[in-house]
Amino acid sequence: MAHYFDHNASTPLSPHVLAVLAEAEADLFGNPSSVHGFGQRARAGVEAAREQVARLLRCPAREIVFTSGGTESDNLALLGALRATGVAGRHVVASAIEHPAVLGACSRLEREGAAVTLVPPRPDGVVDPEAVRCALRPETVLVTVMHASNETGVVQPVAEIARIARHAGALFHCDGVQAAARLPVDVRAIGADLYSISGHKFNGPKGTGALYVRDGVRIEPLGAGGRQERERRPGTENGPALVALGAAAEWLAAHLDTETSRLAALRDRLERGLLDRLPGAAVNGAGSPRTPNTTSVRFAGLDGEALAIALDLAGFAVSTGAACAGGSVRPSHVLLAMGLAPGEARSSLRFSLGLGNDEAQVDALIEAVEAAAARQRRKPAAVGRG
Ligand code: PLP
Repeated sequence: MAHYFDHNASTPLSPHVLAVLAEAEADLFGNPSSVHGFGQRARAGVEAAREQVARLLRCPAREIVFTSGGTESDNLALLGALRATGVAGRHVVASAIEHPAVLGACSRLEREGAAVTLVPPRPDGVVDPEAVRCALRPETVLVTVMHASNETGVVQPVAEIARIARHAGALFHCDGVQAAARLPVDVRAIGADLYSISGHKFNGPKGTGALYVRDGVRIEPLGAGGRQERERRPGTENGPALVALGAAAEWLAAHLDTETSRLAALRDRLERGLLDRLPGAAVNGAGSPRTPNTTSVRFAGLDGEALAIALDLAGFAVSTGAACAGGSVRPSHVLLAMGLAPGEARSSLRFSLGLGNDEAQVDALIEAVEAAAARQRRKPAAVGRG
């Protein structure tokens, strides 16, 4: 039986969420904007889900805009906030380790006439708030730094960065796609103006997400159409999927404490096992605050891609970096930005744990990595790109 260690790429629906989704698909098919009873029941479902998501992020429900996922939330935050005030001549500060959903939106803004400064992290994977402060200009209108890295799990000092942005009169957007699924999040305590999350990272349905938009922050919708989501995201809401997203958010809020300590113990067991058994193995971002479910390990002299394929054949799903970068064999921009050499970045694997994982699976994974590494060392032809 295959074991799944790639929960930062996506998670399965939990049985509870699956049951909620199946029931909602059957019952809540009405258009939430329709005035009849079918529509009103769907509307009630969507608004209850908004309350559940708001409780997860500790904000009022009116500050939640539903989207199709993390990518759309990031795009809506950056493009929407800048277009609301005019893009040309404005300046954005982003960390160099952002997800392509943020970096791609930055490139789009550059094409529309904005300037973008990318701030590299320190070698420990942390974005230094002082480096963000140094990147600010009088025309900076937005700072964006992710809450936790999808690749290393390193948690960023986002409250401090938010204070620096606010002091400079800039908005602060935080990509919380990985953090909201693994850490307690309080968007107001952080001081975020905009905060992105994605349902499929915490056992909710794909195609669902949300953007927290602080009261008073203006964003222009990305598309044209109806007046849904208080005129910020046109299009008929996917009522059943949002109801399932709400159920996933509620479950997470209720179980976060127990689940994070369980995952942290499994992650530590995995790291100990790998470092003990594989000479030259090292954790990227070790020593920095990290999400409890993620570890990025480099295996000196080995090829991460070949290891991931061998592990897949042995029944273990792991990642060589950001799965969202889609089949690319380029070394991870995150690990390179942390100062790793291309060969070191290519020797890295990301293991991300979640609901279904247990100690027996972790122990089996350690054995499988050791065996795959031993086989690769016997076949030096497979090694050595970069
Ligand atoms: N931001 C981060 C940090 C992510 O890890 C991901 C997905 O991996 C995204 C954004 C994109 O989210 P989605 O897959 O919901 O579009």
